[in-house]
This record gives sequence, structure tokens and C-alpha cells, in this order.
Amino acid sequence: MRPSFKYRLYPNKTQQQVIENTLEHCRLLYNRLLAERKEAYEKSGQSMSYVAQAKRFPARKAAIPGIHSVHSQVLQDDYAVFSCEVAIVSLPPSEAMMGGDLGIKHPSDGERFDHPQSLGKAERKLKRLQRAVSRQKKGSRRRKKAVRRLAKAQERVANQRRVAAHQIARHLVHSYGLIAFEDLTAQRLLKNHHLAKDIADAGWHQLVQVTTFKAERAGRRVVLRDPRFTSQDCSTPHCTYRRTDLTLVDRVWQGPHCGVWHDRDRNAAQNLPQRALVG
Ligand SMILES: [Zn+2]
Repeated sequence: MRPSFKYRLYPNKTQQQVIENTLEHCRLLYNRLLAERKEAYEKSGQSMSYVAQAKRFPARKAAIPGIHSVHSQVLQDDYAVFSCEVAIVSLPPSEAMMGGDLGIKHPSDGERFDHPQSLGKAERKLKRLQRAVSRQKKGSRRRKKAVRRLAKAQERVANQRRVAAHQIARHLVHSYGLIAFEDLTAQRLLKNHHLAKDIADAGWHQLVQVTTFKAERAGRRVVLRDPRFTSQDCSTPHCTYRRTDLTLVDRVWQGPHCGVWHDRDRNAAQNLPQRALVG
């Protein structure tokens, strides 16, 4: 397995210049070599080999002028990405199953994962800072300051979200052999877009991604299942009853066939891994 690890770099001014120069030269060289290959192919119909291009390299090197016009984006965000060979350390097999609904409040075994509290607070703060930016005149110093403050807060929220996703994912992968998540893409098309929902979805997708990644390395399974009717379908094994008149008010209901009482959310969460076993 070959995962990549991405780290943000914080170079100082001198380092920035060195990085920027290096990248710029690489870019120019790459474009030049590519153009050469294209030209050669158009002229003779033959593709140029690496060796042929490498042979002419010393002469070319002498001719490359040092160009210092560099895109500012290269400067702003420098990342180092390490691609590493990693051995899979499988966890012992587990029969435990878990179904996660949005908000991951009631996984099937009754555990609760609450959204980190600070996120709601942080999101309200983001809105406030957003308004502060739009209040200031464009190009003004105050606006620049407000933009900086907003960017900082955005980064903090993103970090909190990422940390929370990793913590929950680690716990899930360690506790369950089979983890079933709602496949939100199936439902998305049916629903209107709400900002709050988009935010929740972004967190959700990150959690699914991180869990899938960790599960792969631990030899555990993550599946996505269509969440429709998970609330209405009776989760008692082999019972096929679907309660079509279930409303949002019904927090608890009894299956008329099997007689089992269901907590609405827990029933839904139980249905997900059961569907995973079937399909
Ligand atoms: Zn039933």
C-alpha cells in the first residue's frame, strides 16, 4: 500500500525564494521538453525518448536564463507530499457491525458520537466574520484585516473538523469489522440544498473518506448503502415490515409483525449494516 502524507510548509522569505525559483525552472523546463516532444512527433510521427532529450541536456542547461517571474500562488501554499510504502497491519477479525447515520448520533450499538460542540460555535463565528468583511469598503485596510481574520477562523474550523473525523474514524475502525455509512449521493438529488446541510455533508464525506482510508489499512470493511426507508423498515432480522406512515414525530414505534419496539434512530442505524450484509 502506498498512501501519501501531506504537510503544509511554512518557509521563511529566503526559503520561499529558493522554492519558487526551483519550481519555476522546473515548470519552464517541463514545458520546453513537452513542446519538443510534440514538435518531433508532428514532424516525424515518432515520439522522442527520454534518453534523446537527456543527451542534449548539458547544452540546454547553459542556455536557460534565470527567470524570476513567478506565480504568487506557488508562494502562498507550499506543501510537501511524501508517498510512502506502508505495511498493512490488520486488526483481528471482528463480527461487530456499525451503521452511521448523518450526525452519527446513534450507531447501531448505542454509542453516541456528538458533533464537536465547538464546531457549532465556530460556525457562528465564521458567519459573523463573513459579515464583518462585507461591511468594509473594498480595497480598504480594514477589509484586508477582516479577510485575514476570516481566513484564520476558516482554517481553525477545517482543522477541528479534520481532527474530529480522524478521532471518530479511528474509534470506528478499531471497534467494528463492518462499518456501513449512508450513501448520501443517493439522497442528495431528492432534496433541496441548504447551507447547513451542505456543511454537515462536507463533514460527513470527510468522515467517510478518513474511515475508508483507515479501514483499508486495518483490513476492515466500509460500505455505503442507500439510506432510503432505513427509518421505516423494521430492523428485526428476517422481518420485512415497512412502516409507510411513520412521521418525524414517531421517535419510538412497534413493529406489528414481530412485536419489537424500535427507537427510530437506532432502528435506522441497524438497517444499514444489515443491508450491507445482503448486498
Ligand atoms: Zn418487525
